[in-house]
Amino acid sequence: MRVVVKKFGGTSVGDISRIREAAKLVVRYRAQHPEERLVVVVSAMAGETNRLLALARSCSSNATARELDMIAATGEQVTIALMAMALTDLGAKAESLTGAQAGVITTEQFMGAQVERIDTARLESLLAEDIIPVVAGFQGLSESREITTLGRGGSDISAVALAAALEAAACYIYTDVEGVFSADPRICPDARLLRRISHEEMLELATLGAKVLHPRSVLFAMRYRVPLVTLSTFRSGPGTWIVNEGEIMEAPVVSGITHRSDEARITLSKVPGGLPDGLQRLGKVFADIGKAGIPVDMLTQNRGADGLLDLSFTVPDEHSSHCLELCQALVPEIGAEGAGIDRNIAKVSVVGVGIHAHADVASKIFKALASERIEVLMLSTSEIKISVVIPRKYAELAVRCLHDALVLAQLASGSSPQAEARAAVSH
Ligand code: ADP
Ligand code: ASP
Ligand code: MG
Repeated sequence: MRVVVKKFGGTSVGDISRIREAAKLVVRYRAQHPEERLVVVVSAMAGETNRLLALARSCSSNATARELDMIAATGEQVTIALMAMALTDLGAKAESLTGAQAGVITTEQFMGAQVERIDTARLESLLAEDIIPVVAGFQGLSESREITTLGRGGSDISAVALAAALEAAACYIYTDVEGVFSADPRICPDARLLRRISHEEMLELATLGAKVLHPRSVLFAMRYRVPLVTLSTFRSGPGTWIVNEGEIMEAPVVSGITHRSDEARITLSKVPGGLPDGLQRLGKVFADIGKAGIPVDMLTQNRGADGLLDLSFTVPDEHSSHCLELCQALVPEIGAEGAGIDRNIAKVSVVGVGIHAHADVASKIFKALASERIEVLMLSTSEIKISVVIPRKYAELAVRCLHDALVLAQLASGSSPQAEARAAVSH
């Protein structure tokens, strides 16, 4: 039995006419591929999860993560029923299933649960009867029968996890853009549709801000070898396949530019940094932050002429006030002058498997940002990405100017045949 999973995001099921359009797409696909069995996964209608969470907050500012998951999970329950009705109206056999009914078993980490396993028995018996299961994305059930959600944007994870468990031939993620672009097409009108991108690059892009796929869905696809494609519900086109790096014969140096504006920079100033005491003091700072469950991202230190260190690092906005309090409390103990916070920052990242082999990427980044008079506050690099922290108000401008300087320039110079092929598919 060849199984295919098709997931529709919030905009694709945003109102009844869109649900009907998505259902028509499914029925059309079925008619063209009668040998295949389909599983449909849906998100809540666009804006619905935000509405439910705001409703919860208007009731209580102390809602537990358990109750927040209980309310948030209802969004998807509405869409599964509507989608199953729309499919049935079109003559298909379909049945809606919550995450729990579909056998999605997760950890009990509310609002960010991990999929532990999927009991596929019920799905398989529906598929054997040629009934299309319409599964609620984003949600699951813990071993102790608590309703959980996988975190915002988590329907992508549900879809790929279901595809992995069913050993599906492919997982199609339908969304409101035609696939993965070299930058968010809403910010950068010149962005190019990428026909293929490696798992590693997609994982970086998704982690560093490109919403189009949830990073954990990319990890699932990579780990369980699920052929994954993202494409538009509204416009036909080839979409973007997420593939093994080895399948891309000649990758461009830079594949994409992305940004996120949900982090803050904490600075501990004038920390005595000598060996070994200074290092031990810094170790204590990060031990306390780690114990509080606060993830630290970029980190820089500058030694002043007086030998004292200014230590800066970024943390997610949601943890920034707590982190600042922790650091302020540590100031006397570590002998620092003070702890401060800058919330007006953004991280802009340039991603590409060719970056490590091209030493000029960093210089092009500085040149492009300098031409727009955008200050670089922090920088970090890895094999396949360079990230810079800049003032938040310049984030979108920085994405556009880096896209011009790195992606468009490389297309103009014809630096790779594949890049040229990609240029033909402009947004
Ligand atoms: P869905 O509701 O279908 O899950 P999302 O809103 O989560 O859709 O993701 C799609 C959005 O991702 C697009 O509307 C687009 O603005 C944004 N996006 C950000 N970066 C990129 C990128 N590099 N390529 C494509 N889309 C991107
Ligand atoms: N409805 C959930 C959210 O808005 C999950 C998703 O759309 O993927 O985050
Ligand atoms: Mg999404």
